Formats: sequence, structure tokens, C-alpha cells
Amino acid sequence: MADFHKADIEMLMDGVLPWPAVQEMMRDAKDPDRFDKYVEILQSRVDWDEQILLPLTPALYIVARDGQRIVKCRCGHEFGDYRVNWKISALINVRDTKKALGEIYKGRERPNPKWIQVREYICPGCGTQLEVEAVPRGCQPDFDFLPDLDTFYDQWLGRPLPHTDEHKDLTLEAVSAWAD
Ligand SMILES: [Zn+2]
Repeated sequence: MADFHKADIEMLMDGVLPWPAVQEMMRDAKDPDRFDKYVEILQSRVDWDEQILLPLTPALYIVARDGQRIVKCRCGHEFGDYRVNWKISALINVRDTKKALGEIYKGRERPNPKWIQVREYICPGCGTQLEVEAVPRGCQPDFDFLPDLDTFYDQWLGRPLPHTDEHKDLTLEAVSAWAD
């Protein structure tokens, strides 16, 4: 069973682990505490204290705060309940003209702006581009990942979280609350 040191994993995350070592890591079975090591490294790199429960992207994490589970950027900006698609609280740059799409697609690769728009989701706290999606016009923001945190902690890690949350997409409820 492989047992890589945290320093190796840190180098892997930063893209500076030598290629032979990367290959070795890829070939081997995952060491059982890989998730914990990864989260420990992420935790040591942020300057806030809330416990990271699960990374969603290199910059966005689900964290525990006051009995709630919220999405938080590494810069500290908070997006709210993890069951609400964080994208609806991000800054959004929409590319839906030939000119704007032409800045990222060349020639015939460029999609037809009548049909497709590219949305860039940006953190209001630090300006990091967190996600990009190319979707048909009118399509609601794609909810990339709504993890079942309770099942993951209870059945995969064997240490249930202190309380459980209903595993349910609450995005539409949040949007309707805006309309009230
Ligand atoms: Zn941020």
C-alpha cells in the first residue's frame, strides 16, 4: 500500500513533483488517508479557521461554520449554503456576442451566439475566475457538484458529521426568496 508523505502531495498540488514520482503515485493504490492529507494542506494555506469539509475546486471549499455548511472561497468570501448553487451569488461575465466569443474561440471554433453563451463565474472577494461554462441561452447555471456530505463522511470516511442535512438542491428556493 502506498504511503506518500504530505510533502509529496503538496508538491503534486503545486505541479512541482518530479514526473517519475507523479507516475509512481498514479500507479499505486491511493493511501487511505489521502483525502485527509489533501484537506490538511488546503487548510494550512487559508487564513481563516472554519473546517474544510470538502474541496469543490482548487479555490472553493465547503466548510463548517456555526453548525452550517457553506461554500467559501480560499480568499474568505462566503457564498452561503452548499445546497444552493454558488454560481448564482458570483459575479458573472457573459460572452454572448461574436466579438466577445471571438476573444476566446478562433474562427470556425466559435459557437453561434444566437444559441450559445459562455459564462465566466468570478469571486466577488478576490476576482478569481472560479468556473466557466458554455451553455445554451436561457439555460440555468449548471450545478456542478452537490455532494452527499453525510454519506461521504459516515460511510466512506467512517466518521459521521455532528449533524445531518437534507441532501437536496435548494437553489430554486433561494431564487424564489429573492422575488419575495
Ligand atoms: Zn475569492
